[in-house]
Amino acid sequence: MAGAASASCIFCQIASKSRPTTILHSDEKVVAFEDISPAAVRHYLVIPVEHIPNVKDLQRRTEDFSLVTHMLEVGQTLLRRDAPQCTQYRFGFHQPPLNSINHLHLHCLALPYTPRWKCVKFLSLGSIGFLEAEKLLEKLKPLPPVISKV
Ligand SMILES: [Zn+2]
Ligand SMILES: [Zn+2]
Repeated sequence: MAGAASASCIFCQIASKSRPTTILHSDEKVVAFEDISPAAVRHYLVIPVEHIPNVKDLQRRTEDFSLVTHMLEVGQTLLRRDAPQCTQYRFGFHQPPLNSINHLHLHCLALPYTPRWKCVKFLSLGSIGFLEAEKLLEKLKPLPPVISKV
């Protein structure tokens, strides 16, 4: 269930600072840290403090749209700061069942991949592969209110 922090969830432990981790950014909504097995020059993860299992738990509503927007902004700011020499960045999510940890996390990659074959983990394969953050935001963006004619 979204919202219920799980004691056994490694990312909840990081978000609550009960597991020693080098935190790159933290605020009331999100926490950012380095991926434990980096696949690129820089490879960060941005997670919500709240336990949201995966992208399927997000809905088209303002709350979820602004959360993902904020996660993306934090990731972009960190990569621009730490990898200004890189010209290509990728931001996205693994979709279940191919997500490794069941706590929503945005992969932030400053390319190239290291080693190069790691790129296979981030292939966009439609509904099962890597989901670009921008694509997810399109799905979550609240629809404009319907203006009814009087
Ligand atoms: Zn969690
Ligand atoms: Zn992942």
